[in-house]
Amino acid sequence: MALVVQKFGGSSVKDAEHVMNVADIVTSTYKNGNQVVVVVSAQGDTTDDLIDKAKEINPNASKREMDMLLSSGEQISASLLAMAIEKLGYPVVSLLGWQAGFLTTTTYGNARIKRVNPERIRKELDKKNIVIVTGFQGVNRYDDMTTLGRGGSDTSAVAIAAAMHADLCQIYTDVEGVYTADPRKIPGAKKLDEITYDEMLELATLGAQVLHNRSVEMAKKYHIELEVLSSLTRKPGTIVKEDIKVEKMLINGVAKDDNIARISVIGVPDKPGLAFKIFSKLSAKNINVDIILQSIGRNGTKDISFTVDKDKMDAAVELLNSYIEVIGATGLVTDSNVAKVSIVGAGMESHPGVAADMFEALFSANINIQMIATSEIKISVLIDKQEGARAVQAIHAKFFEMND
Ligand code: ADP
Ligand code: ASP
Ligand code: MG
Repeated sequence: MALVVQKFGGSSVKDAEHVMNVADIVTSTYKNGNQVVVVVSAQGDTTDDLIDKAKEINPNASKREMDMLLSSGEQISASLLAMAIEKLGYPVVSLLGWQAGFLTTTTYGNARIKRVNPERIRKELDKKNIVIVTGFQGVNRYDDMTTLGRGGSDTSAVAIAAAMHADLCQIYTDVEGVYTADPRKIPGAKKLDEITYDEMLELATLGAQVLHNRSVEMAKKYHIELEVLSSLTRKPGTIVKEDIKVEKMLINGVAKDDNIARISVIGVPDKPGLAFKIFSKLSAKNINVDIILQSIGRNGTKDISFTVDKDKMDAAVELLNSYIEVIGATGLVTDSNVAKVSIVGAGMESHPGVAADMFEALFSANINIQMIATSEIKISVLIDKQEGARAVQAIHAKFFEMND
């Protein structure tokens, strides 16, 4: 008997028909002699709709109350799925995050899972129940509901799989697996049979929303193999694991992130310690900086540019505005009309020329590069937001569609 964790995203439970389809998948797994723990997200666009509802009443609602509201979306799908499974004649129980033992940090809206105490889930499995758990939520040390950040249900599923040493963790979604680019935007995108944790982590962090990046981090840490697959076609999906059998692909994906902004500090005195001062100021306020570019000093000054998450831009500007005079810089320029386009692949480590190919694709499409950042397994460029979709297309065509 195996213990299987199955997670279903919002599109997989969006209406009654889809909920019945999920009930069918879950009960088939149970019928085959497995113990099944199911993690569900809120139906369809429920989370977005709840955010809109809150904004109508109070755009500055406290994060605590937002979590009270947002965690309700998952409660609806968990109970509806349990009812669907009852209808099919199987024993089932649905549990909220706190009932399932999810203890989180106190940060409302973006809490991290500290521990999963799966005692109650175990008891229910021993009673032969199928157990449905609400994804995306837990409880903090004040006994308040918290949520895990957008897309966080994937992480809930992996956390249960890790805490219970599950044999299999399946992430069901609305596409057939992880592709070389978003298959909804790039028709030529190809499904990958396998991908390593490290590559998937980069892709997820760089904008491929198919998996929550923290779920991949956790899967790697606890050696949980993930399968990403479609709840509609039920074909084999993509396996995410430590090592893959096939030869390393040069690159295995292109991702885009629009959710960023560029900030430039202009006329910074060209002397030691100023980058330290600027970035330590930002880090003290928990503002994460991504791509950094410093110009060569000229006439005793230089410019330092960097990117931040778009929702941190105002806080960063406020902080630096009051600081640039202190450090002797002359001004601040911001641009939220940018996108970061990245390629990821472990194979690029040993292949020179990958960056040149990427830049050639952009040049051929007449797209200007504002900033570049590289690591062993990724290359990112910052470009004009309007060019984002064309850039992904051009780069994808260069690496994946040449020999079609
Ligand atoms: P769920 O509701 O099941 O959690 P999400 O909407 O969070 O689903 O993630 C699935 C979506 O991720 C797909 O519909 C697809 O448009 C998008 N996506 C972006 N990049 C990729 C990629 N490289 N491979 C697969 N899907 C991707
Ligand atoms: N319902 C939450 C969201 O929309 C969590 C999730 O879907 O994973 O972000
Ligand atoms: Mg998701």
